[in-house]
Amino acid sequence: MSEKQTPQAEEFEFQAEMSQLLHLITHSLYSHREIFLRELISNASDALGKLHFASLTDQSVLGDDPNLKIRLELDDKAKTLAIIDNGLGMSKKELIENLGTIAKSGTAAFAKKMTGDAKKDLDLIGRFGVGFYSVFMVTDQVTVETRGYKSKKGYRWVSKGTGKFTIEELGDIPRGTKISFKFKKDAAEDFGSKWQLESIVKKYSNFVNFPIELGEEALNQTGALWAKPAKEVTDEEYKEFFGFLSHGGSEALGHLHLAVDVPVQFKSVLFFPKEAPKNMFNPDERDSKINLYVKRVFIQSDAKDLLPAWMRFMVGVVDSEDLSLNVSRESTQHSPVMAKINQYLTKKVLGELKSWTEQKPELYQTFWKGFGNFVKEGIHTDYANKDKLLELYRCASSHDPQGLTSLADYISRLKPQQSEIYYVVGKNQGVIESNPNLEYFKKNGIEVLYFFEEIDEFVLSGVMQYQEKQIVGIDKADLSLGHEEHPEQLSPEESEGLLGLFKTVLGERVSNVTASKRLVDSACTLVSAKDAMGANMERMMKMFDQNFTGGKRVMEVNLAHPLIKNLAGILNAAPEEPILSDIIVQLYEGASLLEGSLEDPSEMVPRIARLMGSAAESRLKALKPA
Ligand code: ADP
Repeated sequence: MSEKQTPQAEEFEFQAEMSQLLHLITHSLYSHREIFLRELISNASDALGKLHFASLTDQSVLGDDPNLKIRLELDDKAKTLAIIDNGLGMSKKELIENLGTIAKSGTAAFAKKMTGDAKKDLDLIGRFGVGFYSVFMVTDQVTVETRGYKSKKGYRWVSKGTGKFTIEELGDIPRGTKISFKFKKDAAEDFGSKWQLESIVKKYSNFVNFPIELGEEALNQTGALWAKPAKEVTDEEYKEFFGFLSHGGSEALGHLHLAVDVPVQFKSVLFFPKEAPKNMFNPDERDSKINLYVKRVFIQSDAKDLLPAWMRFMVGVVDSEDLSLNVSRESTQHSPVMAKINQYLTKKVLGELKSWTEQKPELYQTFWKGFGNFVKEGIHTDYANKDKLLELYRCASSHDPQGLTSLADYISRLKPQQSEIYYVVGKNQGVIESNPNLEYFKKNGIEVLYFFEEIDEFVLSGVMQYQEKQIVGIDKADLSLGHEEHPEQLSPEESEGLLGLFKTVLGERVSNVTASKRLVDSACTLVSAKDAMGANMERMMKMFDQNFTGGKRVMEVNLAHPLIKNLAGILNAAPEEPILSDIIVQLYEGASLLEGSLEDPSEMVPRIARLMGSAAESRLKALKPA
C-alpha cells in the first residue's frame, strides 16, 4: 500500500472547452459571487425533485431516508461550507459526464454567448445552467461526495477547477450528494457567517420546494405560493416571488393569481413585468418565462405552449393537476390540456390589460411604453384575438401628439362624413407635421394617427379595418375628401398646359401628375395610388429586399399656389425658358427628400445654385431699375 491518502484516486482531465469556461465564469461573474449558493441549492433541489418523482411510482427508492431536504453545514471557524441533499445522487459515469464535460449543449451554448458583461452573463448562467462551476468563484477546491440511489457504492470527486479532477470510490455513504469546500479568504468575509448565508437563501431560494436547513431551522418557506388562496398572500410575498422567478428582476406592474377548476384544473400566478427587454427579438427574449409544474413537481422553466408567443414577456408559474407528471417538451405541444390552459390564460391576460385601460390608465401607459410592440406583434400574429388586441392598441395622433390615442377614441371623434381612419408615418412629431400631405387634414380638422415606427403601419395596414372603417395612409392618392373650393385657380387651358409640362419634364420619374385637392400651403406633394404601398412600407421593403424598387408615385400640384401660378405665367410668355424644368425637377426632388425617398442628391445641389443665381440676379434688377 502506498502512503498516499487516496490510493485509488483516478485522475481525469476536464474537456478543453471546460477549462476555458471555468476561467470565464470565475472571472467575469466575480461581482455576483453570491449566486454560487443559488446554483448549488437549485441543483440539490432538482436532485430531490427527481427522486421524489421516482418515488411516486416506487415508494421503495426512499428507503429509510424519506424526508427529502437540503442541509447547509457551516463551520464558521474553519470557514468551510457543505451543501448536502438526500436526492438521487450520481454514479461514477454521471460524475464524469455531468461535472467534467461540456457535452451538454446548454453549456456549450453558454460558453459561446458569454459577453463579458457581468449582468448579462449572470442571466445566462441561470438560463443555461452551468451553475455548479460558479462555486469556484468562492473556493479553490471542491469536493463532491455522492451516491446514486440505485447503488451501494459512493464516489468522491475532487477538483481545483483548473485542468483536472480526481475520482475515488467510497463505501456505502448516505444517499445523495454533498458538496463541500473551504471559502477563499475574501469569500469567507462575505459568506462565512450564518446570517450571510441566510439572507442569500431568502433572496434566491425562498420558494424551493424542499426545506433548506441551516442548523435546526428551515430558512425557506416551502409552501408553494401559487397554491395558496390569493387573499392569503401578501404584497411582499408576491414581490419576493417575482424576484425569485425573474432572477432578481426589479418589479412587476401587476399580477394575476388564478385557481381554476373548469375546463381544466390548474393554479397560476402570472406577473406583468415592469422592465421591458431592450430588444424583444433577441434570442434570449424569445423564450417563455413560464414555469410549468405538475402537482407541485417542477417540469420545465420555459413552457412556451401556455401563452401565445407575443405574451412571452409574462413571468410566472402554472401548476396543473390535469397533466401527467411525465409530460415532456414534445408532448406539451400537442396536449389539449395545455391548449385549454393557454386559452384561459390568454383571455385573463387580455382582460386584465383591458381593465387597466379603463381603470388604471397611467399603469396602462407604462405598460404600453414598455410592451406595446409585443401587442403589435400580437395584432399581426394572434388572429383569434385580433379584435381584443386592437382595443389595446395606442398611438399618438394629431388630436394629442404627445399622448396616446386608442382607435375607439379616434372613432368617437370622426367628422360626420368621414368613413376612414387616417394615419401618417414619420420619425417624430416634427417630421410628421411638416408633411405637406397633412395640410388638408389640418385645415379641415380631420384627425390623423401619428405612427412613429414602421411596425405600426405594417401591422395596422395588415388589419385593414377597425369597426368597419378602412385604415388608410394619408399619402394615398385617391382620397374621397369631398369638394374643395380653389377660387384663384388657373384657367383650364393654363392648368392643362402646366400639368402637361410637369409630365414631360418628369417623364419616367412619376406615374402621373394631377391637380391637388389636398394641398394648402405647399406647392406640390408625392402620393401613392390608392392600391399601392405607402412610402414607408416601400422603405421597409427596401430594407428587406435590396432589389425592391416599389411603384412610381403620383405628383400632386397645388394650382392655387403662387409659385405654380408664376410657372404658368412663364410658360405662357416663354415656353422654352430653362428655369421651368429646373424648378419642376427641384419640386419633385424636394418632395422626395421630404418623404425620405430621394436616392441621389448629386444633381440637386448644382441646380439649387443655379436657381439661387437667377433669384439673386432678378432681385438685384428689381432693386436697381435701369
Ligand atoms: P445544470 O444543473 O444546469 O444541468 P450544473 O453544472 O449546475 O448544470 O450541473 C451539471 C449536472 O450535474 C446537473 O445537470 C446534474 O445532472 C448534476 N448535478 C449537479 N448537482 C447535483 C446534485 N446535487 N445531485 C445530483 N446531481 C447533480
